[in-house]
Order: sequence, then C-alpha cells, then structure tokens
Amino acid sequence: MQFRSTISSASPVSFKDAILHTLPREGGLYVPASVMDMRQFFLYMDADTSFPELVTTVAPVLLQGELNPFSASRVAESAYDFEPELQILDEGLSLLNLFNGPTGIFKDFGIAFLAAVMEELLKNSGKAMVISATRGDTGVSTSHAFRGRKGITSVMLYPSGPIRGLDPESFVPNGGNIIPIQVKGTFDDCQSLVKAVINDRPFAERYCITSSNAINPGRLLPQTFYYLYAFIKIKKLLKGDLVFSVPSGNFGNLIAGLYAWKFGMPVSGFIAAMNANNAFGDFIQGKPFQPKPLIITNSPALDVSMPENYERFQSFYEEAPAVMRNMVFPATASNASTLIAMEKMWKKYGVFVDPHTAVGLAAAEQIGATMGYSDQKIHTVVLATGHPAKEALAVAKATGQDIHIPEKLQSLQKPADPIALIEPELDAVEGAIASCF
Ligand SMILES: *Cc1c(COP(=O)(O)O)cnc(C)c1O
Repeated sequence: MQFRSTISSASPVSFKDAILHTLPREGGLYVPASVMDMRQFFLYMDADTSFPELVTTVAPVLLQGELNPFSASRVAESAYDFEPELQILDEGLSLLNLFNGPTGIFKDFGIAFLAAVMEELLKNSGKAMVISATRGDTGVSTSHAFRGRKGITSVMLYPSGPIRGLDPESFVPNGGNIIPIQVKGTFDDCQSLVKAVINDRPFAERYCITSSNAINPGRLLPQTFYYLYAFIKIKKLLKGDLVFSVPSGNFGNLIAGLYAWKFGMPVSGFIAAMNANNAFGDFIQGKPFQPKPLIITNSPALDVSMPENYERFQSFYEEAPAVMRNMVFPATASNASTLIAMEKMWKKYGVFVDPHTAVGLAAAEQIGATMGYSDQKIHTVVLATGHPAKEALAVAKATGQDIHIPEKLQSLQKPADPIALIEPELDAVEGAIASCF
C-alpha cells in the first residue's frame, strides 16, 4: 500500500517514505493511495487471536514489499507489551478498552507501532531523528516507544511547566536516545518550532528529521488494527448490525475506523461522539465546515475546534459523499450527560469509565434513541480511549467512588529535568540538538 497526498496528484510514496516525512512536500496529509480488501485475512481469524498475531497477519499484507511476515512479527512483539481488550457488557454493548498502554491512553497504540516499524524499516540502512512538540502524556508515550530504538533519536520540545514521567537514563547525554528540551514559551511555540526545524531543509536533511505528530500515517495505520481486533472478538455474538462509537477530538480514531471499513470490516456505522466542540458534525452531515470558538468541557482531549484530520475527511468525502452521510452519525454529549453516563455505567455494570469514553456512551445512547436502535439486534462498541484512573476526580464526582490509581500511572507524575532550557527560537533548538552529538 502506497500513500498519496490529500491535495496533490504527485506520485504516491512508500510507507517508509511517508512515515519518514510525516507530511507530503506538496502539502496536504498522507492517505492510503489505494485500499485493499483484507476480508479473507481477518474473516477467518477467531476470537482466540491475540493482538500481536493480528498485527503480524494484517500488516505484511497491507505493507507488501516493505514488511514481510518476519519483520511484522518483530514489530508487533517489540511495539506491544499491551493489548486492547473487548469488554462485552451485554448483548447490545461492549467497551473496547484501549487504555492498557504505558500512559493509559489509546494514543500509545499508534506511537508504539510507529517507533517499532520505523526501527525495522531503517534496519542497517539509515537513521532518523523524530521531533515532536509534547506536553503531558504524549511525551511519556513517545519516550517509552522510541527508547533504545537503533538508529533513532527522539527530540521532544516541552512548553514551560514541569516535565513528568521521563527516565533520565534514557537521555542522550547518559547514553540513551531521548532529547527533552524545554522551551520558554507555550505549546503553540513548541509546535511552531517543530515546523520551523522541519522546514530548515539543510538541518532537517543533515539529521534525517521527521515527526511523530498524530498525523504521521505510521500512527494512523495501527489504529485500524484494534477495530479489526474488536470485530474478530465480537463477530460470533453478533445478531445484527455492528456500530462503533468513537469519542472524537482530532478525529484520528474515527478516520482509522473508516479505513478499517474500507479494508473490508463489516460494520454498519460509526458514531462521531463529540462534546460541545461539535462543529465538525455539520461537516459530516454534508455542510461546509465552519470552526467555532473552543469551549472548555469535562472531556478535555475532545476540546478541539479545528480537527487535525480535517483534510483526510475531506478527501474521504470527495471519494464517497454518500458513505459519510450513511455511515457516520454525529452526536453531541453535554458535560451533564457525560457525568450521567459515567454514573450509569457504574450503577448498571459496576464499571468505571473516563469522561471521554462517557461521551462515546452518551452519544451512542442518543443515536440509539433517535434511530430506533433500542432493540438488542444492534451491537455498539464504544472505544474506551482513556483509563478511568487518569480522570479520578471526574469519576469520583460522577459515581461517588474513590478509584485506585495503578502504580504505572502514578509514576507518570514524577518530575524530570530537561537536558536544555531554551528561548523559543530556531537557532536555540538547533544548537541544543547539535550539542548532543
Ligand atoms: C486524544 C484523545 C481522544 C480523541 O482522539 P482523536 O483521535 O483525536 O479524535 C479521545 N480520548 C482520549 C482520552 C484522548 O486522549
């Protein structure tokens, strides 16, 4: 499978080139240039298939010519010491728990695969420097995924404020391959600096710079794998339609689901579950996209006014407008209905869910109500995108229960010192990077 830009007709590139450049030179975002029907590969997998087994089967077919089954198996093993888990609650409802990775957030799945597959594709023949703007958990996820990867250095730009959850032993001056740099500025400053470094062609080429930003196609692809995983776990129990409800902010998860459908996964629809930041819903229904000012809610990861994957949706839309209207149902959950969904899950099933997952549940209930989904023939799989213990206060507010915070998640709070503290200037970033070698 090759990748092309959403906006240009330049010839498609290999997966390796796409992940090593993150963004097409001609502009736009990378999307699969052609989509394969993978049905024969996963329709016959059974519920006992493990996640690494699924990845080992599916990835070499998708990435034919670039990743053979042996390489794919190494990638799956080294990326994933955690698995998704389908928690079936009753005939009509399951949670796809995606919070078992190092930071308790589904984004671990994409970052882990990107790091492992990059190492595999560079093997013996290259190096890369992965630069990203980070705050909070993405930094931990990135350093965990890239730590010790041969030929790869990971540079992370942090805004002002404490840096947490990193292990100084993994830093370049201590023999590791991680370079955390703190920028006296905001997260936006860090993002602008990442762009500036990438656009400084001579520097970027000298260090083979790429980015692990969420729009890297090497993060998008593995997100399709857990939809297929959910499908093989549930398929025997299905009596009717399968619907996924996806808590959406930058819409990476949802677009991955649409690709899983394009690969041949039998699914009747996707619920685009949003909080009050729901302008994208109109676009999904076929209207022009008009971003609205950002609203702060109790599901902060969904507080996005301009989704990063907008261009991917637009390109999907151009190819198949009817699909968008018939397959993707937008729904909005208020702060109050989010808390009610959390309470209901606790009372009905004894399960804690985080507020983002709760947006998915509330949206599913709403869509069910309007579409007559109330009968048990439809099975809804809600993507549980965050660990409930990461939002312990919200869980306590909604359920009246104190929640245990696992050791792994507690250690994310440990502060660490950056290897450099710099002004928000391109020269300063490049100087700090150069001084490490
Ligand atoms: C990032 C995030 C989301 C939103 O995912 P998108 O792919 O950006 O739509 C949902 N829930 C949690 C917990 C997140 O961290």
